[in-house]
Amino acid sequence: MSEMVNEIQVKSVLNKHKRRDDWFLDDYSVNPYEGCAFNCIYCYIRGSKYGENMERTLSAKVNLPEVLRRQLSLRARRREYGIICIATSTEPYMPIEEKLGLTRKALEIILGYRFPVHIVTKSKLVLRDLDILKKIDETAILPDDLKKLNRGAMITFSISTLDEKLARALEPGAPAPMERLETMMRCKEEGFLTGVCYAPTLPFISDTEEEIDRMIKAAKDYGADYAFVGTLTLFGDGPADCKTLYYRFLERHFPNLIPKYRSLFRASFKPPKEYEDKLEERATKIRDKYNVRYRIIS
Ligand code: SF4
Repeated sequence: MSEMVNEIQVKSVLNKHKRRDDWFLDDYSVNPYEGCAFNCIYCYIRGSKYGENMERTLSAKVNLPEVLRRQLSLRARRREYGIICIATSTEPYMPIEEKLGLTRKALEIILGYRFPVHIVTKSKLVLRDLDILKKIDETAILPDDLKKLNRGAMITFSISTLDEKLARALEPGAPAPMERLETMMRCKEEGFLTGVCYAPTLPFISDTEEEIDRMIKAAKDYGADYAFVGTLTLFGDGPADCKTLYYRFLERHFPNLIPKYRSLFRASFKPPKEYEDKLEERATKIRDKYNVRYRIIS
């Protein structure tokens, strides 16, 4: 990976969410970087802003420590505790993090103000920070309506397919899916609440009963407490947009599926509700079979 990174100053790093997502339970998010070196072709942050190779336009929010400290001290004073998701629009543990340590700094500050965190990652570099995450897990103050969670840290690994070859084509800069599962197992062994976010699953490729079964079984075998299963979204017609790149991927690997995709996505950036309901139904049946929760709090 290139060592080039733009350094940027930001006015805010703590985003307050209007609505808490029932998968991620996130009241806030922190994204220490802008753009992402993992370059997943399906990534929703794609577009002309970052270009086709998002590693080239990757930026580090170098003044994160002082800004986060200021924002969190205000929220803590008002006792506006809530789960902070790291990260929602970048990968918090890409290789540059080894050098810059911005995610680690964010966690140290969060620990100081006793906010709970939800890490969402594809990388084993998260293991470096288990020491801080353990302290957060034990000392964070949960918002009143999530008290029953009784944990201050969750670690979720996102995976879209277990097929290594496909993963290389879809997520060219990211660690292999098996490495993510093995990292999850380490987190589980260390006592963390952990799980998998299988999103996006790929219509007609990794959304079949057989594939979902394989994925949920793997989640169970590698220690997942929960597994989410979500579908693909395709945005934009520009050269760096995920829809354009995804269709290019289909042309190369699954040309016969293109008409089915055109039909599935004919009305929207996502498949119709019936498709989503069927996927959820399939996933629920399989999660029940393997005794894996479908939400962090079910
Ligand atoms: S790791 Fe996440 S943020 Fe980075 S490119 Fe992939 S989907 Fe996007």
